[in-house]
Amino acid sequence: MKKLLILGAGTAGTMMANKLHRRLDLSQWAITVVDRDDVHYYQPGFLFVPFGIYQPKDVVKTRREFLPSDVNFVIAEVEKIEPDQNRVALANAARWTTTTSSSPPAPTFTPKRPRASKTGSGPLEGAPRV
Ligand SMILES: Cc1cc2nc3c(=O)[nH]c(=O)nc-3n(C[C@H](O)[C@H](O)[C@H](O)COP(=O)(O)OP(=O)(O)OC[C@H]3O[C@@H](n4cnc5c(N)ncnc54)[C@H](O)[C@@H]3O)c2cc1C
Repeated sequence: MKKLLILGAGTAGTMMANKLHRRLDLSQWAITVVDRDDVHYYQPGFLFVPFGIYQPKDVVKTRREFLPSDVNFVIAEVEKIEPDQNRVALANAARWTTTTSSSPPAPTFTPKRPRASKTGSGPLEGAPRV
């Protein structure tokens, strides 16, 4: 079984997963998408929230909703990409090989690291959270 690994389930990753899911022979290919969380933001819709045209719930969905059910979805922080080794290290879960070998991924567990804190002053008081 060949493995296709998509890092990031934002706009690009979600589109690639759906396009390639239609085009690839799924008896030959396993598709896996990794993202750090399961929260999909429809960013263009943000512009309509202040005007009440969209509510925050209209622009925040679960990522799983936009992925075909037979695409694997892994929630984990991508820590390191090792292209020479065809490997990706995930901070809180596993190391997935992306080689075309028929062996299943063999996770090596690493301790979860805290995410870097964000800079900035946080959300504006009174602004809807999305
Ligand atoms: C207010 C607003 C309005 C917009 N309007 C439009 C519009 O009208 N038309 C248009 O074409 N574009 C619009 N855009 C731009 C568009 O939304 C972005 O260009 C698009 O989302 C980028 O897609 P992307 O997949 O590259 O990145 P993202 O959608 O940001 O996806 C990246 C993903 O990678 C994940 N990720 C990143 N690092 C890691 C890590 N280390 N480990 C695990 N996961 C990770 C993130 O969680 C995220 O889900 C708008 C953007 C904004 C903010």
